[in-house]
Amino acid sequence: MAGTGFYIHWLRSSIKYQRSVLSTHRLAKSFTTRKLSSTKNGACYDIVVVGGGIVGMATARELQIRYPNFKLAVLEKERELGVHQSGHNSGVIHAGIYYKPGSLKARLCVEGMHLAYKFLDEKCIPYKKCGKLIVATNELEIGRLMDLYERAKQNNCPDIELIEGKDIKKHEPHCEGVKALWSPHTGIVDWGRVTQEYGKDLKEKGGAIHNSFQVDNFQEETGATSNNDYPIRVTGNENKFVRAKYVLTCGGLHSDRLAQKGGCSKDPRIIPFRGEYLLLSPEKCHLIKGNIYPVPDPRFPFLGVHFTPRMDGSVWLGPNAILAFKREGYRWRDIDFSDLLDALKYPGFQKLAFKYAVFGMGEMIRSAFIGLQLKELRKYIPHISAKDIKRGPSGVRAQAVASDGTLVDDFVFDSGGKGLLSKRVLHCRNAPSPGATSSLSIAKMIADKMTKQMDL
Ligand SMILES: Cc1cc2nc3c(=O)[nH]c(=O)nc-3n(C[C@H](O)[C@H](O)[C@H](O)COP(=O)(O)OP(=O)(O)OC[C@H]3O[C@@H](n4cnc5c(N)ncnc54)[C@H](O)[C@@H]3O)c2cc1C
Repeated sequence: MAGTGFYIHWLRSSIKYQRSVLSTHRLAKSFTTRKLSSTKNGACYDIVVVGGGIVGMATARELQIRYPNFKLAVLEKERELGVHQSGHNSGVIHAGIYYKPGSLKARLCVEGMHLAYKFLDEKCIPYKKCGKLIVATNELEIGRLMDLYERAKQNNCPDIELIEGKDIKKHEPHCEGVKALWSPHTGIVDWGRVTQEYGKDLKEKGGAIHNSFQVDNFQEETGATSNNDYPIRVTGNENKFVRAKYVLTCGGLHSDRLAQKGGCSKDPRIIPFRGEYLLLSPEKCHLIKGNIYPVPDPRFPFLGVHFTPRMDGSVWLGPNAILAFKREGYRWRDIDFSDLLDALKYPGFQKLAFKYAVFGMGEMIRSAFIGLQLKELRKYIPHISAKDIKRGPSGVRAQAVASDGTLVDDFVFDSGGKGLLSKRVLHCRNAPSPGATSSLSIAKMIADKMTKQMDL
């Protein structure tokens, strides 16, 4: 009987998940098809934004709000918006706890969180403000937790509390720990859905979206066929092209390649890191109320494996961080030899791999044998066992790496090129995580930058 109950619960939650994916899919498809019909070769736009992820869409929307008379178009290579990083992430609305006080990343995250909640309320997009605990499990971690608390206060993260071990259970009845930070404003949402909504809003404000348009070059047009008012020619697959006055690229996992096509340098290079999640069995999902995170180890660049409740009621555990063998390689078997060689030959990656060799090997072993991740997870929630976890989805992070092997943690913009390309094309080469939470504030920052730099 118990087995049947478990199966029915599992089945129900899978159907619920499929439905939510389908509804996002339909929303995407409805305006994908409408827009495709309006793609006209040689169409002229005041601004062209390349990349329909959350950063490109938020910025396109912001520019269209600021300049309502501009003709603006987004060019996205996929048939839908937000299918890469923006649709494959933890779905957390971050409160800005971790980042270096005074940094752009810290300011944009806190600002972005407030803007995101406002947008979600205005558009009636479902979200849950389920909060987050960062849990210390030993004395060493308490010191790091206190540092995080100071950071959070300096970053103006709202209502952050330091709580004792006994109070952890008030928020997470099944969680163990000796001290914790409680962030009540951390939430969860489907960022892929939010990206679609930015697109819908952009369209309502007059902007255009051209899907299945893979940009492969930027040129300053000269000669008899050129149009002086729209001097930048943006070309794509199947001989498609549009003309633009100004161009912004937000290419995520391909941002370095787009910048290079615009005449910029190769560095920093994007190295794709896959983040794999495990799924908690539906029977055990009630053990997790909100987000539960470890205290990050400053020796490593990632936040550590965490418990993340999802909008559909499931719980994801992860992500880890392992080299992806393809820029958009969501599975071990997704291999693109040119992407892989590109990464392996890059001196920046070689230095990085050397520095984090032990960590990297550990991640790969734990990825192959998921049972090994249990020990870490059970430190926080002891009631889970091997039968409660199975492999889940994954995302691929666009990690910018400098040629000296350092992980680039800040925004990188480039205008390289020559002539008009250097004045009218802006490449966002790195929009660091949490780019989804910060998307609306990043959009404002980029729109300010374009306004000033391009004299819009
Ligand atoms: C595993 C994981 C977990 C994360 N968790 C969180 C989280 O919980 N909360 C949070 O706030 N952030 C999170 N992030 C970070 C966040 O998802 C990203 O910062 C954000 O989605 C980046 O958006 P983007 O638009 O820059 O990139 P993308 O979403 O990758 O968009 C780039 C777009 O450009 C398009 N493109 C590329 N090349 C071309 C071309 N030549 N022509 C046309 N189009 C092109 C791509 O198809 C893509 O749609 C996470 C990221 C990962 C990978």
